[in-house]
Amino acid sequence: MSDYDNAIFRLATAQKAEPEDYIGEDGLLYCGSCRQPKEACFPEGKTFFGRDRHPKECDCQRKRRETLEASHREYKHREEVERLKRIGFTDPAMREWTFENDNGKCP
Ligand SMILES: [Zn+2]
Repeated sequence: MSDYDNAIFRLATAQKAEPEDYIGEDGLLYCGSCRQPKEACFPEGKTFFGRDRHPKECDCQRKRRETLEASHREYKHREEVERLKRIGFTDPAMREWTFENDNGKCP
């Protein structure tokens, strides 16, 4: 198995179980916090690498991912603003210039 296949295999089959997680009546792994299933069966009894299930995001995992994605977007945004400032304002002191800091003397 190549590294790539290995990574896919891990993604497709491995669901990290937290200590509070438990196996539900349907045999799937459930989240101990939000009580949502962290696994789902493949449709029509299909299997993948010998497994009949794949990981699924529970509510807390989804929230965690969305928070991560949001902070990543904000980081990207800040980075872009900094990049544009570097291009637009050549003197480092100019980058601190904001409308809030304007004293209004020069309309
Ligand atoms: Zn959860």
